[in-house]
Amino acid sequence: MHILVTGGAGYIGSHTSVVLLEAGHEVIIVDNLSNSKIETIDRIKQITKKELIFYQEDVTDEAAVDAIFSNHSFDGVIHFAGFKAVGESVEFPLKYYYNNTVSTMVLAKYCLKYGVKQFVFSSSATVYGENDVPFVETMELLPTTNPYGETKVISERILTDVAKANRDFAVSLLRYFNPVGAHESGLIGEDPRGIPNNLMPYITKVAKGKLEKLRIFGNDYPTPDGTGVRDYIHVMDLAEGHVAALEKLTPGVHVYNLGTGRGISVLELVKTFEEVNGVKVPYEIVGRRPGDIAESYADVSKAKAELGWTAKRGIREMCRDAWRYECGV
Ligand code: NAD
Ligand code: UDP
Repeated sequence: MHILVTGGAGYIGSHTSVVLLEAGHEVIIVDNLSNSKIETIDRIKQITKKELIFYQEDVTDEAAVDAIFSNHSFDGVIHFAGFKAVGESVEFPLKYYYNNTVSTMVLAKYCLKYGVKQFVFSSSATVYGENDVPFVETMELLPTTNPYGETKVISERILTDVAKANRDFAVSLLRYFNPVGAHESGLIGEDPRGIPNNLMPYITKVAKGKLEKLRIFGNDYPTPDGTGVRDYIHVMDLAEGHVAALEKLTPGVHVYNLGTGRGISVLELVKTFEEVNGVKVPYEIVGRRPGDIAESYADVSKAKAELGWTAKRGIREMCRDAWRYECGV
């Protein structure tokens, strides 16, 4: 298949492009490099020893998107492009609402114009809000406490309505849990600009001595050790989930959780990271981070039953590969 990967120079998009190329698909990436580097494109080629086409364009730019669609005959689109920093979205809501929802609408519009019928969208477990764990796809979506989360809910609704109005349109809404780790080559991984917001990149920077210590946001949650529980998933498992979703896509809207189904606490992750990599991660316990929920983990039975996909890599591999990437960059 010929697949347009938006945001393909970014963290999840680059790993998914590797898996797509290795599965024999043609990959065309569009990315404005607002949160990624051009070198990643070369590294995808280096890992796979395959060629791909890259456009440095913004997917909210209709003329640019129209031109890309007219140059190719796509079988499907995987839409990763978007802004993802929760805190920044509170500070600059319009930037987030604009980029994340307009990009979805523009891509859907040109899919319809050019007869591209398969659309895979990067959603997030954040859409479950404070539902009880494990999160199941059939749950009612609850408020997400920040504009970033709302952009995911809105994009899901937009794509659902487009599919309702166009009966041969096939949409897969993939709700990611917490992607971590890196390609096992250490050549691509997660490289946030500035001080990381997310736990794993923060841990790797502390272990490397680039940051002094980890601040653990709260140890008074109703969880086994009091720290927050999340469903961390290896980014390569997540990438493979996209290819499974794409290859099984049929008309209509399909929602899948992509997680491992297992909750891990902050302290458990820190301890495993130290043990696997033989390094120290100094930390202190501080107050809760506003907007955080106690627990988030997936019911993964639907993806297993319908896509034949389950996460294969465990928490130790996630810690090993995240560290390998940190040491290589
Ligand atoms: P990322 O920032 O590494 O990748 C996103 C890419 O999109 C970047 O390369 C950026 O330059 C590009 N981009 C942003 N806006 C663009 C635009 N208008 N036009 C063209 N390119 C644009 O982020 P990621 O972690 O790879 O996330 C990919 C997607 O998955 C995002 O939609 C994100 O919201 C979603 N998601 C991520 C996580 C996570 O924890 N990483 C969890 C759930 C969902
Ligand atoms: N966390 C933490 N210190 C940090 C970053 C995160 O204690 O510097 C905790 C956070 O409170 C949550 C977990 O780690 O319980 C995962 O946070 P992350 O931001 O990676 O993901 P999200 O909260 O979006 O699921």
